[in-house]
Order: sequence, then structure tokens, then C-alpha cells
Amino acid sequence: MQSAILPGGQVITVNEYNPEIHGDSIYCLDKSCSAPVIFVKGTDSVVSHFKTTGKSEENKHSSTCGFYKPLSFFESVAKVEEYQQDLLDNGIKKHIVKINFNKLDPDYEPKTVEREEKEKKSVDPTEIKIKQENETPKSIGSLKAVVNLLTSYDPGILSSIVVQVKGAKIPISRLILHFEKAYEQHWNDELLETPYFIFGKVERVIRREKVYFIVFESKDKRSQFSLVVFDKYFKHFTLRDDQLVGKEIISYGFLKKNTFNQDKKRSELSIKSDKFIQILTSKG
Ligand SMILES: [Zn+2]
Repeated sequence: MQSAILPGGQVITVNEYNPEIHGDSIYCLDKSCSAPVIFVKGTDSVVSHFKTTGKSEENKHSSTCGFYKPLSFFESVAKVEEYQQDLLDNGIKKHIVKINFNKLDPDYEPKTVEREEKEKKSVDPTEIKIKQENETPKSIGSLKAVVNLLTSYDPGILSSIVVQVKGAKIPISRLILHFEKAYEQHWNDELLETPYFIFGKVERVIRREKVYFIVFESKDKRSQFSLVVFDKYFKHFTLRDDQLVGKEIISYGFLKKNTFNQDKKRSELSIKSDKFIQILTSKG
């Protein structure tokens, strides 16, 4: 792990840690665990990190700890939600990750080729070095990249991520939501003016002449939430029903309230192509 907790509750990262200042009493940042950890200095092949010694039961992560085993996408989302606000409040060093899905949008036209080349040239030469130091990526341009992010880094590193999207900076755990939670926040007017990553299990696909609905399966039966594809974009949407029904998926976009039927509050997220759906395997 890259961060740990000092006896006073302050978060310390491996790069900031100095035993002469901070002492040797440092702990796992998962509150259900709080196992003592030690500092391990980096080598050519491994970055500096904190770890448990495993010498006795007290020196191992508890089975509910986010560092006990590699986490699935769903477990990772839950742990980052549990940790993030607390770690941000206690001074974890933030990592900014930009989100830009423009290239996936069939309506998007790059302004000029020149500009893209300019951006390429201005790449910081230290970036490759940073990568070796276990830093998170600087930008995300697809749903697959989001899933990879959540399943490749430990929940401590993920909790340091603040997402820059449409000019706003938002802790990542606020933007990746199960649809039932998103639905509740949507109708309580608690959502921010940004696109969201929404995941859930597909119950059915309804294909009408002018619009398709990909309906999520609601356990509480109250949250009516669908992804929507309008006919203008049918040509970009080739997924078959059997590729979606019963599958856990994640999507990305702005939520809209559908108040057409006064009795039924429905949340909708409109997508323009297959690229705005990523199937989540039970492992991923
Ligand atoms: Zn632990």
C-alpha cells in the first residue's frame, strides 16, 4: 500500500514518510483492519510501500480489509466510497485524472489536427518515470480504462483520485455510482452538473421504432433507470439483447429525468454508441 495512518489519524504517503519525524507506529488505512504496517524501501523492481509483517494474526490484514486480497470492480468501488472522503479530509495527496470521452462520441469533430499535435509535443518527459512510481494515469478516455483503473490499483491509491471533468474537480467515488444510488440522488436533486459513471444489471432491452431502452434490474423495485438510444444513433449501436440481458454493465453520461408519466419517476442516461457500454464480468 502507498499510504498509511499515523496514530493521530493523519494520512501519510510512502514518499512523505520519515520514521524520525513520524515514528514507527503506522497502521493500515482500512478502519475495519488498522493492522500495524512497516515501511519497505523501493528497489529497481519494486516501488517503496507499506506492508504488514504477517508475523502474527494482529500483523495481518483482516478479511474485510481492502488490502486483504485483490478486489473486483464492485468491491473496489465500495471500498473507495468507504475510504475516500475520510482520507481526503485527513490530507491524502490528491491525484488529478482528466476524463475526456470526446473521441468516443460519434458527433464529435476534432477542432484541428494541429492542436492535437501541439498537445503531443507538450507531454512532460518525466511522465514515464512517474508511471513507474505507481502513479495513476493522467487521463481516461474510455469505459474500459475506468474499469482497468478500478481493478489495477489498490483502494488507497484510488481514494487519492480527484476527477477533472467539464472543468470541475470531483472525488472519483462521487462519480461512479450503482444506478439505485444514482436514482435516489437524482430525484433528491443531489447530483452534480457532470456526467456520471453508472453501473447495474440489465433486466431487459425494449426496442421501439424511434428509441431503445436498456432497463436496469431494480432490487428495491423503486428505481426506474434506463439507458436510452435514439434512432439517430441506432447505426452506432450493434449490441444484441443476449449480449446485455442479465449482464452487469457500466455506462457514462448525463442523467435526465423523464417526467412523461407523472406517476413514474424515471431516470434516463442517453448514449450514442456501443462504446458507452462496457460489460463488467463477475471478476472484473
Ligand atoms: Zn488492512
